Amino acid sequence: MKGMVNKCSNCGGEMVLMGDMKFRVGGYSGVGGMFLGGWNQLAEQTQTFTLYRCAQCGKVDFYEPAGR
Ligand SMILES: [Zn+2]
Repeated sequence: MKGMVNKCSNCGGEMVLMGDMKFRVGGYSGVGGMFLGGWNQLAEQTQTFTLYRCAQCGKVDFYEPAGR
């Protein structure tokens, strides 16, 4: 993926690299789980995605980082 220019699938604009974002995965039945203290008792697992955002329309795409 390095050096590659991504095109927005929505408007064809340029996708700008926003960086990596970590998401917690595993066991949640939605965002509400975070506010109920359920987060401690779960084996915490994170998944990193590389985030791109369209400069024109704001569409966001996620990619799994390479070399994982
Ligand atoms: Zn776009």
